[in-house]
Amino acid sequence: MSLVYLGLGTNLGDKEQNLNNAVMALTLEVGDVLRVSSFYRSKPWGYDSKNEFLNAVALVETSLTPFEVLQKTQEIERNLGRTAKTATGYSDRLIDLDILMYDNLILDQPTLTIPHPLLAVRDFVLLPLSEMAPDLVHPVLGKSIIELRRELIP
Ligand code: ADP
Ligand code: MG
Repeated sequence: MSLVYLGLGTNLGDKEQNLNNAVMALTLEVGDVLRVSSFYRSKPWGYDSKNEFLNAVALVETSLTPFEVLQKTQEIERNLGRTAKTATGYSDRLIDLDILMYDNLILDQPTLTIPHPLLAVRDFVLLPLSEMAPDLVHPVLGKSIIELRRELIP
């Protein structure tokens, strides 16, 4: 069994419902959801949109490999996004699932990088993660989540 931290984000439709649906789908498809952080509002990051995000982090116990988790989370994204009739070419989305950490694994492959490459520069990830696991150490940077957050938001 492995412990995987997943980042959840949504900026379309009923955002709380989208996050709850994603958590339910993770339970069915990936493994036991041990904990879910509070839901946090954030401004779109890296692009312009009028639609604010709602973000959370979930801790899941899984028997799947990292690539199997990626496959399942992409499947969940597609399933939950299927009703997105209004989706445009922007990066607004009903649900985005990112693999943040997988045990202490370090992986750098074309389709999958773990820890997530932007983890340390996104407060919408570090904030919910610091609520769940402030002392969790980033295996590449060698710093805890709370230290990374202090560096990002001095
Ligand atoms: P973004 O999350 O950056 O807005 P996408 O959700 O569309 O964009 O993901 C783009 C690609 O990122 C995916 O096809 C996946 O192969 C790749 N990827 C690399 N590392 C990760 C990771 N840790 N978690 C999720 N996707 C990842
Ligand atoms: Mg993603």
